[in-house]
Amino acid sequence: MALIDETHDAALRSWVESANGHGDFPIQNLPLGVFSRPGETARGGVAIGDHILDLAALAASGLLEGEALDAARAGSGETLNPLLALGSGPRRALRRRVSALLVEGAAERAQVEPLLVPMAEATLHLPARIADYTDFYVGIHHATNIGKLFRPDNPLLPNYKHVPIGYHGRASTVRPSGAPVIRPNGQTKAPDADAPSFGPIGRLDYELELGVWMAQGNQLGQPIPIDKALDHIAGVTLLNDWSARDVQAWEYQPLGPFLAKNFLTTVSPWIVTMEALAPFRMAQAPRPAGDPRPLPYLWDETDQRQGALSLDLEVSLSTARMRGEGVPAQRLSHGPAGNMYWTIAQMVAHHASNGCEMNPGDLLGTGTISGSEDGSQGSLMEITRSGREKVTLPTGETRTFLEDGDELTLSGRFVAEGAVSIGFGPCAGVVQAAVSLK
Ligand code: CA
Repeated sequence: MALIDETHDAALRSWVESANGHGDFPIQNLPLGVFSRPGETARGGVAIGDHILDLAALAASGLLEGEALDAARAGSGETLNPLLALGSGPRRALRRRVSALLVEGAAERAQVEPLLVPMAEATLHLPARIADYTDFYVGIHHATNIGKLFRPDNPLLPNYKHVPIGYHGRASTVRPSGAPVIRPNGQTKAPDADAPSFGPIGRLDYELELGVWMAQGNQLGQPIPIDKALDHIAGVTLLNDWSARDVQAWEYQPLGPFLAKNFLTTVSPWIVTMEALAPFRMAQAPRPAGDPRPLPYLWDETDQRQGALSLDLEVSLSTARMRGEGVPAQRLSHGPAGNMYWTIAQMVAHHASNGCEMNPGDLLGTGTISGSEDGSQGSLMEITRSGREKVTLPTGETRTFLEDGDELTLSGRFVAEGAVSIGFGPCAGVVQAAVSLK
């Protein structure tokens, strides 16, 4: 169940002034990440306003005990995998104690203040070592839009409403926000060409997704029942599944995405925990009349009542020229995340249903989240209808797909009545020219 406690109180303010009214990291959020300063080893931290609370220093401070101390110690190393493996109990104990230490009027302020690091001085790393990355395809409008482009007569394949479709991605190329997006070289074949060719890909696209960080895993051979699935999830992140559409079109049949998808995946560096999300859980949209009811291993009434998230997502683009002229980034799309045909719990339960071993720090992508209307589509492939329509920018420049120098930023905000909104921090990357072929 989603537990609302004193840490979610909308009246809470922090003595860290920048946290109050902060768009992403007010005291109600307290996301987990890994940071370093020049010359220091990386370690876990908690974002609060424009600062980071150093978990290693906090663990050594004598201010924690019990499960909260266990969690801070497990979060003191270069990855959060040990902390994620502890599951929700210690994670929640740490959250409650950190909230109490950072709240306005806290008696321990003088002891905690030296444990804060300005975020501007820190490099943010991936929060966990990712052993496995899986990308799903649960955005039904995206699946329909893309399906129409690849297969006009048969957009949604017959399995879609029975199975949460996914493929195993590439963990080695996941990077935190800010990593350069090097245009890949690839083999493509234009529809009217006689033969394929190899070189810098032309149709570089992004995909707006939600990422899910796994907490404690399961043993090989042991499924994760759907009513226990959320116990295995630590939290969420923004995820950009950069995509080479021209490679995808040529390579994807019959085994699905390969080099079109594995050259880079960007995530926002903070894990917004399941505890922080409690006020933003909402009912999954009912399935349209006539849609099949999922098989019992994918169905849980509690999950249907609160398995979706009240989250607004946005994508913006800034060209090199726009940045040079001081022109603000242009919004390409915005919309709610409520367009997922399957819930996160259904994704996890399906993934482990055959006994597949999942591990702490594994990353799952939801698949592109698009709305049904113009202005809410989560990829350029959809916005430009496969390059047939141009996006015009304030400088008069136009785009069908991303060009070198373009900066693409995903952002998201959880919004619910009576709750203080929280966010992820940026998930951005700038496109660089392809490596030259000599
Ligand atoms: Ca994807």
